Amino acid sequence: MAVHERTCLICKEKKEKKDLFRLVKSGETNYKFDEKQRQQSRGYYVCKSPECLKRLSKHKKIKMSSEDLMKMLSLLKKTEKDYLNILKAMKNSQALSFGMNMVLEDIEHTHFLVLAEDISEKNEKKLLAKARELKINYVYYGNKDQLGEIFGKNEVSVIAVKSKKMARGLID
Ligand SMILES: [Zn+2]
Repeated sequence: MAVHERTCLICKEKKEKKDLFRLVKSGETNYKFDEKQRQQSRGYYVCKSPECLKRLSKHKKIKMSSEDLMKMLSLLKKTEKDYLNILKAMKNSQALSFGMNMVLEDIEHTHFLVLAEDISEKNEKKLLAKARELKINYVYYGNKDQLGEIFGKNEVSVIAVKSKKMARGLID
């Protein structure tokens, strides 16, 4: 039986369609995620893997919105889902605040919080009180160094997600 294989735009490997996300062009270098695989335009494909999505998010000639990247990342199998990769892919959008000062300033517009596992007790208390008051979901993930690395900083103890869509992808 002939299997219809497609090539990943990023790693150039040939795979079955079920192992790939379908994209369509929406401009010279812009692509959109074709979630339902129904758009009539020519399809382009990328592996359903955190590695290829991460490379895609940094690609100079294949540009996608962080919401589309986020959606694809959230569709990866749970075990493959990696908050750090998701946050890295989102960091250039306007959807993230980081650090105590910025996060507390933006807390009214925050839909989701990522707290470092080694956050200080004082900061943790402050944030959790706000989270309860405003009904914001949160998760502990990584340490301050790892969260800092996302933004090229030494240490970051908290990240706020300000886009509802992105927050949903992280919660699911
Ligand atoms: Zn690939």
